[in-house]
Amino acid sequence: MNLSDQLSITAKKYPTKTAYIFQGEETSYMELEGAVIKFASRLEQLGYKKGDHIALIVGNSPYYVIGLYGALRMGLVVIPINPLYTAHEMTYILKNGDVKAVITMDILLEKFTAIADKLPKVNHYISCDSGADLKLDQNLLSSKLKSFTQLIQEGSLDYDAPELKDEDLAIILYTSGTTGKPKGAMLTHKNLFSNAKDVADYLTINGEDRVIAALPMFHVFCLTVALNAPLLNGGTVLIMPKFSPQEVFRMTKKYNITVFAGVPTMYNYLLQSAQENKEDFAGIRLCISGGASMPVALLKEFEKAFEVQISEGYGLSEASPVTCFNPLDRPRKPGSIGRNIINVENKVVDEFGIEVETGEVGELIVQGRNVMQGYYKMPEETAVALKDGWLYTGDMARMDDEGYFYIVDRKKDLILVGGYNVYPREVEEVLYSHPNVTEVAVVGVPDPETGEAVMSYVVVDDSSATKEELIGFCKEQLVKYKIPSKIEFLDELPKNTTGKILRRSLREKVVN
Ligand code: AMP
Repeated sequence: MNLSDQLSITAKKYPTKTAYIFQGEETSYMELEGAVIKFASRLEQLGYKKGDHIALIVGNSPYYVIGLYGALRMGLVVIPINPLYTAHEMTYILKNGDVKAVITMDILLEKFTAIADKLPKVNHYISCDSGADLKLDQNLLSSKLKSFTQLIQEGSLDYDAPELKDEDLAIILYTSGTTGKPKGAMLTHKNLFSNAKDVADYLTINGEDRVIAALPMFHVFCLTVALNAPLLNGGTVLIMPKFSPQEVFRMTKKYNITVFAGVPTMYNYLLQSAQENKEDFAGIRLCISGGASMPVALLKEFEKAFEVQISEGYGLSEASPVTCFNPLDRPRKPGSIGRNIINVENKVVDEFGIEVETGEVGELIVQGRNVMQGYYKMPEETAVALKDGWLYTGDMARMDDEGYFYIVDRKKDLILVGGYNVYPREVEEVLYSHPNVTEVAVVGVPDPETGEAVMSYVVVDDSSATKEELIGFCKEQLVKYKIPSKIEFLDELPKNTTGKILRRSLREKVVN
């Protein structure tokens, strides 16, 4: 089975049910399926063949959903890209990914005009109308420019889609990687479909659910958990163009949303206005957190303020993405990423790939039908990530005796202070539990005596909190070498567009 065929089945079963809501307008499954077929038929007429690569560089909108499912229907391999990337970043991915067509937005066309001559393999730029009053030079990309809306209008419902096989590539997801250039994780139809299904089954996301997609859809967390999983079962997706706490509250109440999925920083923003907006969240039955570790203090405060349970999970692009989640039918453990979801196995191993004892820290490795085929055109990187049928995640973790996993940190974020290991997360958890701290990130910085030292960047809600007080607070709970040698207050922490805190740019800040 695959996402595209499943959409046809769902559309036959629930033709008039609402598939998604965008800016107040509801679109039924039948309407979505019609647009998908028409778009696929026009792509074929433009000369594209099964297996060709198409980039999807579009913000959260119906265009994203129709573009994705339409291209998959035709058997194209979709490469989602963050629309905020620079021309330089986009050029690299479009070239490396052998992209033949680009679906993008009119507001980005100038950017593509500047790089089009570097991309001779791109035959068409399919532009979505953003509603902005643009005075576009019609000569820009002229012969290659197509209108998304027009393609759908011209498309035919009489279209024979090619057969999609489980092992056919469906999506290549470029991940930023730890060093060097982004790597394209190759995911098949089976990888994507099975992860969406297994997550939906594990978290009981069903046809009655209304899920708010506030995370960016180009990120795999949103793609699988907030888009594909609800669409599989006839649920409804509320598409938010951009995350804003007040809009989340307003939309949740107005459209009776039942599931919210976000990264921890989003929970932090929502918590700031818990008092005035608590009632708006009354219909939410499940909050899902992932993408970065959820500080225990934040989880507890949020659950208390909104009287709703947060289930934290874990995933990575290379696993389509989900591997673990806190279960709904057993206790939820704060600080844990939960247990194996259905059809996925996680294991903690030492540097030789041997499973460590329960409770010991090692690298988290993953096996299952959700795991990628490798990195596109990067055999060496693939050999490092995929060994003996297991995906090496690069994350350090431990498992307790009830099969719950705990992420300790990324391997590369480990700080070595005079030979001692310091995992930033442990120090961050302590600082988060201080009543005045709203955000914190801990990084290692060069130190002439100890090699590295612990440095902490903190956002506080009350300027009377001093560095000395925070260090004293840490001293009560941490051994000496883990205590930050420096604390710097910031108004906010740098984050990527998904809302993950960028530890790397904090480290660079110190070095520069
Ligand atoms: P991406 O491929 O962009 O989805 O990033 C995957 C990475 O996000 C993982 O390798 C982890 O380092 C991190 N991550 C995802 N979920 C969690 C979580 N619940 N706790 C800690 N780190 C997480």
